[in-house]
Amino acid sequence: MQTKRHRLPKMKEPAFLPTANPSPTSQEEESAAHPGPEPAPCAQPSGDPAENGKEPAHIPPKYPCPCCGCRTLPVPAADAIAYICPVCFWENDVFLSREDEPSDENHGMTLREARDNFKQYHACDPRFLQFVRAPFKEEQNG
Ligand SMILES: [Zn+2]
Repeated sequence: MQTKRHRLPKMKEPAFLPTANPSPTSQEEESAAHPGPEPAPCAQPSGDPAENGKEPAHIPPKYPCPCCGCRTLPVPAADAIAYICPVCFWENDVFLSREDEPSDENHGMTLREARDNFKQYHACDPRFLQFVRAPFKEEQNG
């Protein structure tokens, strides 16, 4: 059995190597040091990330929330199951057929009540005021 020793110098040595030996042919370093005009072929997206046609350049249209009318739903309201609107905090209820029908998703609140509350408090329920946010410009109705 050999005597155990701490080998700290072994750990440190490699760390000094790169700085101790600056390569003479460092063209990359030189060009990076000078703040000259860089080509930057695709470093800056010029508002058009649709190179492969996967995503359109423009923001996809969103669907209006049945309560506040802001375009916050990523899919039509009929498909936005249990989606909570970030602007009014109304939870989309796909089973709701009338605005007077109590919504189980919203603790028995009707859509009409939620709309009235939104007009008054900017939330479908004043208790949710802390959770809602103002609509983005592109979400505003009209
Ligand atoms: Zn809403």
